[in-house]
Amino acid sequence: MHNKKSFPDLMGKIQQINFRLTRTKLLLFAFTLIAVGLALGGLGSSPNDATAASKVVSLSLPNRHAFHTGQAVGSTVDPVRTEPWDAVTVRDGQSLDAIFRQQGFSATTLFRIMALNKETRQLKKIRPGDLFEFQYHEDGSLKRMRYAVDEAHYLIVDYDGRQAFASTEARDIITRIEETSGTISSSLFLAGKQAGLSDGMVMKLASLFGWDIDFVLDIRAGDRFILIYEKIYRDGSFLRDGEIIGATFVNQGEKFQAIRFVIDGRTQYFAPDGRNMRKAFLRAPLNFSYISSNFNPKRFHPILKTVRPHNGIDYKAPKGTPVYAAGDGKVIKASYSKYNGNYVFIQHANNIVTKYLHFSKRAVKKGQRVKQGQVIGYVGATGLAQAPHLHYEFVVNGVHRNPRTVPLPKADALAATQLADFRLAAAPVLSQLNRLESASLYASQ
Ligand SMILES: [Zn+2]
Repeated sequence: MHNKKSFPDLMGKIQQINFRLTRTKLLLFAFTLIAVGLALGGLGSSPNDATAASKVVSLSLPNRHAFHTGQAVGSTVDPVRTEPWDAVTVRDGQSLDAIFRQQGFSATTLFRIMALNKETRQLKKIRPGDLFEFQYHEDGSLKRMRYAVDEAHYLIVDYDGRQAFASTEARDIITRIEETSGTISSSLFLAGKQAGLSDGMVMKLASLFGWDIDFVLDIRAGDRFILIYEKIYRDGSFLRDGEIIGATFVNQGEKFQAIRFVIDGRTQYFAPDGRNMRKAFLRAPLNFSYISSNFNPKRFHPILKTVRPHNGIDYKAPKGTPVYAAGDGKVIKASYSKYNGNYVFIQHANNIVTKYLHFSKRAVKKGQRVKQGQVIGYVGATGLAQAPHLHYEFVVNGVHRNPRTVPLPKADALAATQLADFRLAAAPVLSQLNRLESASLYASQ
């Protein structure tokens, strides 16, 4: 494997990235060319093209949205840099010592490298799957070694036969802003896929709105989403998804919006009025991806019909679906009974108790403090249950309430000083979201 990518290799890389639009491919391609130093100028994207559902755009947002570090690969004339690398992947239980022996490098070479500094001493702790790259002197001895110490940096060691020199090199990392939209016809995951989103990004989107929308019971055909998010590229290739910058979700005609705002280095999301998206209770206390990945809201409604009097909601879900604590609290019961099967009760603030029945397995103990979203058990059919489901109760001051309609404690709003900053940062994101929404509505007519 070589550092310097050949042209067809690059094309292959680009094809792997699952972009549906030629236009996007072209933009990405152009970007890659620039990254390899073949300075192609004058290419940009027009953010006014409303016909594309997914595309690369440039936004002038006030936050840390687009950054660029390191040197473009190949922008140097240093001949050592243009030489090909030999790559070795660390196998299970393999040490650098073993790799050096396999390469025919001397023990002295390794000793000298390890003795250099604290970065090179880290090489004792290599993991299976790590990649080492080598260049050789004419006699086959080590000339140059390269190792990715983290996502964005290489540790480089040069060796002249007597002395070793270590340096750190920043890799070419670029964050691109993408926008996309989708309408749900059968499932959120399918709509996400059609909009070019990974399942992980769909989960991120859903968890942003998980305090307002019950993604198990309340999603309907015709629900829509708009998303502005980051994609991270390294050395011209897609590396991973970044964060969501802003999102709109229209659920049964009701519109929810969330905008990223970083406070003290921590990413948080707020509604346009400055209220935190995070609230005291989750709408649905279970991982909806186990359910909605193969559920059609048109013909299937995952509520079990039961005959006995009912104090809660039943979420039909596959056995083993993780169940979350709906809010922060303390486990007051974690036990088994003939009717409840494996069950967990949690005491929350404001004299609220939530109850979870029929687990296949409990994941918490009595007396334990739990955080919102923490897994407390797994869906099962223990006790009086015909099929795997979660029976969920919401009790306020000893009275059973419907968890889907009970008024919940309101979320904290930003302080006045932060609110001004938030409004400033949120304005361009909001107008972008709203513009995309009109565009996608127009396109679907
Ligand atoms: Zn029930």
